[in-house]
Amino acid sequence: MKTAPRQPRPRQTLSGSEPHDTLRKVFGFSTFRPNQERIVQAIVEGRDVFAVMPTGGGKSLCYQLPAVLLPGTCVVISPLIALMKDQVDGAKANGIRAACLNSSLSPEEQAAVQRDLLSGSLDLLYVAPERFALDHFRELLARVDVGLAVVDEAHCISEWGHDFRPDYLSLSALVGLFPDAPVAAFTATATMKVQEDILGKLALRNPLPVRASFDRPNLFYDIRFKDTLSNQLVSLLKSNPGKAGIIYRTSRKSVNETAAMLQAKGFRVLPYHAGLDDEERRRNQEAFIRDEADIIVATIAFGMGIDKSNIRFVIHADLPKSVESYYQETGRAGRDGEPARCTLFFSRSDIPRVRFFIDTIADEAERAKALAALQKVISFASASVCRRKTLLDHFGEEYRQDNCGGCDICLGSRETVDCSVEAQMMLSAVARTEERFGATHIVDIVTGSRNRKILDFGHNRLKTWGVGKERSKKFWRQLVDELLAQKIIAKSEGLYPALYLLDKAAAVLKGETVVEMVRTPDRPLPKAPGGEEGAYDRDLFELLRSLRKEIADEQGVPPYIVFSDRSLRDMATLFPVTAEEMLSVSGVGEVKLERYGRRFLQLIRRHREESPEQSK
Ligand code: ADP
Ligand code: ZN
Repeated sequence: MKTAPRQPRPRQTLSGSEPHDTLRKVFGFSTFRPNQERIVQAIVEGRDVFAVMPTGGGKSLCYQLPAVLLPGTCVVISPLIALMKDQVDGAKANGIRAACLNSSLSPEEQAAVQRDLLSGSLDLLYVAPERFALDHFRELLARVDVGLAVVDEAHCISEWGHDFRPDYLSLSALVGLFPDAPVAAFTATATMKVQEDILGKLALRNPLPVRASFDRPNLFYDIRFKDTLSNQLVSLLKSNPGKAGIIYRTSRKSVNETAAMLQAKGFRVLPYHAGLDDEERRRNQEAFIRDEADIIVATIAFGMGIDKSNIRFVIHADLPKSVESYYQETGRAGRDGEPARCTLFFSRSDIPRVRFFIDTIADEAERAKALAALQKVISFASASVCRRKTLLDHFGEEYRQDNCGGCDICLGSRETVDCSVEAQMMLSAVARTEERFGATHIVDIVTGSRNRKILDFGHNRLKTWGVGKERSKKFWRQLVDELLAQKIIAKSEGLYPALYLLDKAAAVLKGETVVEMVRTPDRPLPKAPGGEEGAYDRDLFELLRSLRKEIADEQGVPPYIVFSDRSLRDMATLFPVTAEEMLSVSGVGEVKLERYGRRFLQLIRRHREESPEQSK
């Protein structure tokens, strides 16, 4: 392989204010997010960087900003073609000269990109890793002034990671390929094992190590008792009209059912799972990204290849398979930093089904791992401990605040009530039926059902039959969960698990122990602090949203590329009428102002004239 001799790169002498100027003028942001500034600074000074930051942490800006400041082209290696296009569109919308090279381009398009690259007219080039295995690509790069090399999704180089890509191994040669340019690697994968593996494989030169907090302060976590799921979903969606969200379910069948149910209720919903043909999957994903469908009901097959920043909620309608996957999946919400809600519907009656699947795993070690992960996620969902604290704890991070102000536990939307008497009724029903029946039947007894099974067994003659009929079935089901969680009763193994009493039950029956139940009332949750419920003009926001969609369609890009939800909300709060005022809106840099400013300003002015009393 030929490599052209390189000129040693002159050290950058930037004035301290330059990154800030670029942040404002190009990206339209007034402040850096945590860690961004020191990463940018290290890169422009020529130092390698290894950064672990959560989804939504703002990794792209960490290299896009230096790409603007540094001479030459910044080459970004990125594994997903779909994401490359999004990144390129986003960068271009800010006036950054960006392109990508991958197999989705025609030979002519590839030739055009190569021409731009060789003539030095690209700030940013995204490429797929497999290119690095090709000699002719390396020869091409040797003729280019590469100012910075970036490995995005760097965990793909690790066999320990969840999405190992053999192509990434060719990146071990990166440092040798660009001896004069800094190399920066980014990942959102938190485990230490993967991190060490990445560092070893990339052989970075004394890199600046950055490990950001995995806290996502704009995400609100909420776990609710799963009862009548369809109704619960409908009422939750009704309180978030028109917002973009994902509903995760575990099976294709349940995805189809939930999607059909919600469509019938008039929601703009589409399904997504591996059983749909490629074309339909692609179409549904595209409709979601382009704000043409509000909601995607999906299996966990959905989410990897999307960068949509304005997802306002993620609902888990079934138990996630681990705390880690819960964090990953909820992490897709609120990448734009705006408030977003993560709701998990949990019932212990879901557990046997998950157990059933785990039992089919042939490999013993894998099975044990899956089981341990299940136990952890169950205790996460059952405990009355701050959700954020538990999540961060899982990643070895200590959350020190007493009250996170952003989860159901900390906002006290749960209340405890004394259920000792009801618990006694239930335990006595279990005892009187000789611990031979499951939860449904026990609930039928205390609520006084006359169904076939009750009559066949003569259980309508029990003393406890009907003693709890003034309480709903939902209450009793919840109490079963609570008694299980508090280890007062347990459930036998097998296809028809029966409830039986544990040691603690005796004290409860004798009235020696109080049973408290955490109840989640079905009222709306208190508003999260710093939430989007602040004073902004909703009507104007909707008008701005339509204009954003119109422009996005004209340009063939997703709406969030034109402006983020944050930008629109700022406009609906600040009512900018001059170009100068428009620049103070988050996400409005000089290029976006020039391209879209006039149309948005016009809309805002017109709205102010039509409803002057609101726009003060
Ligand atoms: P990641 O790749 O780490 O998940 P992104 O780079 O996609 O995160 O950034 C997430 C969102 O945050 C984007 O919408 C981006 O425009 C926004 N963002 C990044 N940096 C800032 C900042 N300093 N101020 C405001 N918004 C920012
Ligand atoms: Zn909390």
